[in-house]
Amino acid sequence: MKDSFGREIHYLRVSLTDRCNFRCVYCMPAKGNFYAPLPHLLTDAELIRLIRIAATIGFDRIRLTGGEPTIRPNLVNIVQGIAEIPGIKEIAMTTNAVKLEQIAEPLARVGLKRVNISIDTLDAERFHKMTRFGQLDQVWRGILAAERAGLKPIKLNSVVVRGHNEEDIVDLARLTLEHEWDMRFIEVMPLGAIADFQMESVVPVAEMRLRIESALGKLEPLDWDGHNPARPHRLRGGLGTIGFISSVTEPFCAGCDRMRLNADGRLRLCLLRDNEVDLLAPLRAGASDDDLRELMQGGVWNKPWGHGLAEHVIAETRIMSQIGG
Ligand code: SAM
Ligand code: SF4
Repeated sequence: MKDSFGREIHYLRVSLTDRCNFRCVYCMPAKGNFYAPLPHLLTDAELIRLIRIAATIGFDRIRLTGGEPTIRPNLVNIVQGIAEIPGIKEIAMTTNAVKLEQIAEPLARVGLKRVNISIDTLDAERFHKMTRFGQLDQVWRGILAAERAGLKPIKLNSVVVRGHNEEDIVDLARLTLEHEWDMRFIEVMPLGAIADFQMESVVPVAEMRLRIESALGKLEPLDWDGHNPARPHRLRGGLGTIGFISSVTEPFCAGCDRMRLNADGRLRLCLLRDNEVDLLAPLRAGASDDDLRELMQGGVWNKPWGHGLAEHVIAETRIMSQIGG
């Protein structure tokens, strides 16, 4: 289905929960309750129903995210339920990997195809400081478990935050020399309660690239489909790739093909704008599949052209963990 700007929208990022076992400095404030009451979140059956309806209007790629999607109860059954929906071609997940050692294999068995894993530094102390709870070795074991389970290609996400981990991107980039992993460096994006800190913490992609090339040599650009927000590059002799996601300094809204279903049943039309369509209230009030389909189609049509960061328009109603990144 096309939006009003002619973009083909077929990729749905589904937040399974707004809760998390980390509290990363660039995602959540140190204190405060950012969790909706549990009855306000979609049940398993509601979630599957909405994805089934979304599939009938052309959504064929699903990414599970959160909060931390692996702490959602019944995750394996949910993935299996989505895999059985006609029209769904791919299910992937973005995770902090803490629980992957236990569940990568069962998830792969029921239809999960790939994972993106967040890892912001290879220094255990800085990792703990950035995530406020995380143990690096646990995440590392999760990455290896995902690889063993065949959830490939493994993509690693690193949000680069001034004063926290900009020194670490060279070590992370070096991983691609020995592993077939796709390493992606992300500019920190501003949202909600910590937008000021996030704006002050942006490390521009141009600087990230310079740091990597100064230490490890030239990055060769590879072919690119224009939709993946990170154009891939390779270091000479590298097995994996390196990409940069530059939402702040070089927006890629023209190639956007995605929408988000938040854990509380709101269809979010653009990550960095507050426009949302409430699906939960009509669903619980007895709306038919056709009614819900029409609401989704309206949301796709009304998808904004792009974010307004250049004009200092900051989405205020949610933080990243409440949307799904
Ligand atoms: N908990 C999972 C994880 O961390 O991978 C999934 C949810 S998380 C919100 C999804 C992605 O958003 C992660 O790659 C995370 O690093 C990224 N993210 C979180 N806050 C961000 C921010 N302010 N700017 C850019 N990326 C952010
Ligand atoms: Fe949790 Fe992911 Fe946000 Fe970190 S980035 S606090 S792991 S939701």
